[in-house]
Amino acid sequence: REEGEAPKGIKMSKVGGQITCSSCNRTGHNMKSCTNNAAATKHHGNAHIVRERSRKRKLQKEAYEAETSKKSKVMC
Ligand SMILES: [Zn+2]
Repeated sequence: REEGEAPKGIKMSKVGGQITCSSCNRTGHNMKSCTNNAAATKHHGNAHIVRERSRKRKLQKEAYEAETSKKSKVMC
């Protein structure tokens, strides 16, 4: 049982010198050059969410600072 078996260490994505995209499973390009790169879309979505969250946090911080300055004014 030595012949006909694929040797270990061979990469399935480069069988026969062809590239298989791990994003859409099509041959001829890889995931980085994929036109419908799901990873890139995902990253963009995450970036948007992070931006939105940091914006909200900043607004909350500004409101808190305004409240704090109001209180200190009253005390003075
Ligand atoms: Zn692809």
